[in-house]
Amino acid sequence: MNNNKRGKLVLYTGCSGVGKGTILEKIRERDPNVWVSVSNTTRGKREGEIDGVHYVFVTKEQFENLIKENGFLEYAKYCDNYYGTPKKPVEDMLADGRTVILEIEVKGGLQIMEKYPDVVSIFILPPSLDELEKRLRNRGTEDEETIRKRLSEAKHELGFKDRYSYNVVNDNIDEAVDEIINIINKDA
Ligand code: 5GP
Repeated sequence: MNNNKRGKLVLYTGCSGVGKGTILEKIRERDPNVWVSVSNTTRGKREGEIDGVHYVFVTKEQFENLIKENGFLEYAKYCDNYYGTPKKPVEDMLADGRTVILEIEVKGGLQIMEKYPDVVSIFILPPSLDELEKRLRNRGTEDEETIRKRLSEAKHELGFKDRYSYNVVNDNIDEAVDEIINIINKDA
């Protein structure tokens, strides 16, 4: 779609296990103009994940080469792995008038706020930390050590929620989706 109007950039952050992925799937179904950026990562592929769809899975060396080539809009290390947003597709989609969602953690989020002061920033909150721990465990995709690291990272990340323009609690998934769609389409 190209209506000569630059698309909106949306920064979307939430702790591991908060349900970000499920919310995003529903947003995509509801708004075909939304495009979700596919990040590069050095972390191992989880069961069911597809290379090029959920992430582009790369080696540490490949990632570091991309950093040198200035290929990332932002990147960060999270729980011992690199994660980064490739620059070109995001710029292309924005130029094409698409709403671009960056589903990234806090360190990258702060870089994006600096570079794009007009970014619409949304932080997804769990109803409580106990509930977050329960969801992470029920997901069953991480071992105990990784769960502990992710919970500790979550507590740290929650300290940055006020830097975001909008905080959305994921208590009821459909309500969270409605709320985010309203935010995205505000002043569209
Ligand atoms: P996961 O390993 O659970 O897929 O992602 C771990 C964290 O990395 C999540 O908070 C996710 O939002 C974040 N993340 C995913 N892609 C990127 C990226 O390109 N850049 C940054 N800074 N964080 C990312």
